[in-house]
Amino acid sequence: MEPVQALQKYFGYSGFRHEQEAIIRHVLDKKDVLALMPTGGGKSICYQLPAVMLEGLTIVISPLIALMKDQVDALNVNGIPAAFFNSSQSTQEQTELATKLRNNQVKLLYLAPERLFANESKLIGFLKTLPVSLIVIDEAHCISHWGHDFRPEYLALAGLKDHFPAIPVIALTATADKLTKKDILEKLNLKDPAIFISSFNRANITYRVIPKKNSFNQLLAFLDERKDESGIIYCLSRKSTEALAADLKEEGFFAEAYHAGLDNALKARTQEAFLRDEVRIIVATIAFGMGINKSNVRYVVHVDMPKNIEGYYQETGRAGRDGLPSEAMLLYSPGDAVKLKQFAMIEDNPDQSRIMLKKLDDMVKYCQLHACRRQFLLQYFDEAFPPNCGSCDFCLTEFKKFDGTLIAQKALSAVARLKERFGSTYVIDLLRGSKNEKIREEHKQLKTYGIGADISKADWARYIRELTAMGYLQVTDDIYPVLKLTPKSELVLKGLEKVELVEAETTEEHKPVAALPFEASLLNELKNIRRDIALHENVPPYIILSDATLMEIATYLPQSLDELRLVSGFGDIKLARYGREFLLPVKDYCIKNGLSSKIKQKTPKRERKAKTEKASKTSDSNDTAYKSFLLYKAGKTIAEIAAERNLAVTTIEGHLSFYIYNGSIDIAEMVTEEKKLKIQDIIESYGAEKLSPLKEVLGDDYSYGEIRAVIAWMRKVGMI
Ligand code: ADP
Ligand code: ZN
Repeated sequence: MEPVQALQKYFGYSGFRHEQEAIIRHVLDKKDVLALMPTGGGKSICYQLPAVMLEGLTIVISPLIALMKDQVDALNVNGIPAAFFNSSQSTQEQTELATKLRNNQVKLLYLAPERLFANESKLIGFLKTLPVSLIVIDEAHCISHWGHDFRPEYLALAGLKDHFPAIPVIALTATADKLTKKDILEKLNLKDPAIFISSFNRANITYRVIPKKNSFNQLLAFLDERKDESGIIYCLSRKSTEALAADLKEEGFFAEAYHAGLDNALKARTQEAFLRDEVRIIVATIAFGMGINKSNVRYVVHVDMPKNIEGYYQETGRAGRDGLPSEAMLLYSPGDAVKLKQFAMIEDNPDQSRIMLKKLDDMVKYCQLHACRRQFLLQYFDEAFPPNCGSCDFCLTEFKKFDGTLIAQKALSAVARLKERFGSTYVIDLLRGSKNEKIREEHKQLKTYGIGADISKADWARYIRELTAMGYLQVTDDIYPVLKLTPKSELVLKGLEKVELVEAETTEEHKPVAALPFEASLLNELKNIRRDIALHENVPPYIILSDATLMEIATYLPQSLDELRLVSGFGDIKLARYGREFLLPVKDYCIKNGLSSKIKQKTPKRERKAKTEKASKTSDSNDTAYKSFLLYKAGKTIAEIAAERNLAVTTIEGHLSFYIYNGSIDIAEMVTEEKKLKIQDIIESYGAEKLSPLKEVLGDDYSYGEIRAVIAWMRKVGMI
C-alpha cells in the first residue's frame, strides 16, 4: 500500500502536509531521521503511519504521561492497537500488556525514558526479544541543555543505539535552535540522519498586540465573542492567575487557574476538564501547556508580556492545532517590560543577564513593531517571509497615507544642519525645540530648531522610522547610532519628490470573526453527539473527531458513508464506528431545511486549501488583503485594483501573494507556466530573501508581482 492510501485508510486524511511524505519514505527505508516541525504541524503522523505500515513494533519515547495517554487514546479510536507502560499500572496490567506484546498484538508502545532504563534495564532486555521495527524520540529537544525544557532522563537515550544498532530512529521536535539540533544529533548517535526542517509559519493563527489599558475589560470584550470556545490566558504570576480566574468565573465563564504551585491532583483535574471541554478557559502561568495536545484551542491571550520570543511563539502555537482559524492576542504595556527587566538581571552572572536582556529587548521590539508581525517572528527564527502576511493586526489594518513631504523636509534638513552627526533622539528634540540642556546652544540658533513643535515625540519617532524604511534616511551601526542622509534625501529637500507618510495610528478595534458558511445549529448537534460518544468511550471529545472534521460535515452536508469518507478525519475505522451516527442528524437537518449535499464543492486531496479557504472567509470583510482578493476574483487586474483602492501596486501584489500562498488563487492565473519555471529556477539559485536582485537577473520581461507570486507558491508547496 502506498503511504497516501494508508493515510486515508487509517487516519482519514486525503493528503500529506509539509514534509510528512518525505519523512515517512525515509523512515520506511529504514533511515534515521530528525524532523523539525512547528506545533500542530503534524509530527505524529510521521511515525504513526510507518508504525502501522511496518511489520513489528514501534517504540515511542515521550516525556509526559498525559501526552502518551492522549496519543494512545487517539490511535485506539482509529483502530490502531497502541499501549503505554506507566508506573500507575498494576502488576497484572503490566503482565497482560507483556503478553500482548509477545503475541504481536500491539503496534505502538509508548514509554517514558526513565522507565526504559529502570530496574537494571529489565525492560530493555524484554524489548530486545520483540520484533522492534522503529524507535521514535518525541520532544527530542528535551535531550539538550540548550533547549528550554531539558530533561536529564533523556540523556540515557544515548545508549539506545547500542541496544538496537540496526533499528532506525526518528527524532521529532517543534523547537530546536542550532545548538539544540546539534546536541540532538550527537547525543542520540543518529546514523547519517536525514534532517527535515518545515516552515515554522502557523498560517491559521492571527497575531495581534494591543496596548493594555484596562486589561479586564479588554479581555471581557474579547471573550464575550468566544463564549463556547476553548482558550488559554497566560499571566506572569501565580497570584494573578487565581485572581483573574475568579473574576472570570464571576462573569459567568468556565475558567480555572493553573500554575506549578497547585497540588497535583487539582492540576490533573483541571487539565482533564479542559480536555473534555468542561472548563473553557485556563488562566495559567507558563507551567501550563507542555503536553497539552488539545487540538481545538481557539485562542491564546497574553495578559502580561512574555519574557522572550521563544516562549511567546511556543505558547501562541498551542492555538489552532486543528488548522482552523485561531487568535493570538497580547496586551502590551511598556511597564511590563520595566518589571521584566528586573527579573532578567541575574546576580553574579553578567553573561546570562546580557542574553536575557537581549531577548527581552527583542520581545519589546515585537510589541512595538510597525510592520508584519508574522514576518518578524519567522525572521527571528531565521526564516525568510514576505512582508505582508494578510493575517496579523498590522496587515489587517488599513493605514491612511497623507502627503508628508513637508514633515520629511523638516526632518531631513534637521539632519543636514546637524551635519549628520546626531542620533534620532537629539534630532527630535531639536525639531521640537526642546529646552533640554543637552541641546547645544549653537543648535538652538539653527533655523530648524523648533519647527516641528506641533508633532509629538512618539509621532516624530515613527515618521523617522518610516523615512528610514523608505530609504530617505539611514541609521549607522555604531554604538551610538547616528542619522545620515541618503542619495534620495536630496530629491525631497529640493522638492523634486513627494513623500507619503502613514497617519497617526488609530488602534485597531477588535473585530469579531465573521461566521463561517456552516450550519451552526447542526454543528451544535454534531458536537453533542460527539460529547456523548466521548463520555461513553471515556476519552476527550477531540479524540473522537476534531472540530475541523465536524465543521466540514456541517459545511458540506454529506448524505452517505461514501460522501462522509471525503470529509477530512474519517479513516476506515472511524467511518465504520461512528459514520452512521453522524450521518443521521445531517440527513434530518437537510430534509427539514430543504438543503442537499455540497460535498462536490470540496476539492479532494486539497486538505490545506479547503481549510485556508475557510480561513480567508472568516477574515473580516474590512481586511485590506481580503478586499483586494475579492476585487481580483471579480476579474480586475492588479493595476485596476491598485487604482481603485488608492494603494500601491506592490501592496496589492503582496495581498494577492498571500492568497496564492494559502491556496485560494491558482498560480497559473497569474504567471504562465514558462515564466514560472524560469523564476523558480532563479529563486532556487539565489534564494527568495531579497526581491530586487532576482528582478535584476530576470530582466524587464518579469514583473515584481510575478516574482512574488512564484515565491508565495513555492512556499505553499514547501519548495522553500
Ligand atoms: P504536532 O505533534 O506536530 O503538534 P499533531 O501530530 O498533533 O501535531 O497534528 C496536529 C493536527 O493535525 C492533528 O489534529 C492531526 O490529526 C492533524 N493532521 C496531521 N497530519 C494531517 C494531514 N496530513 N491532513 C490533515 N490533518 C492532519
Ligand atoms: Zn502580517
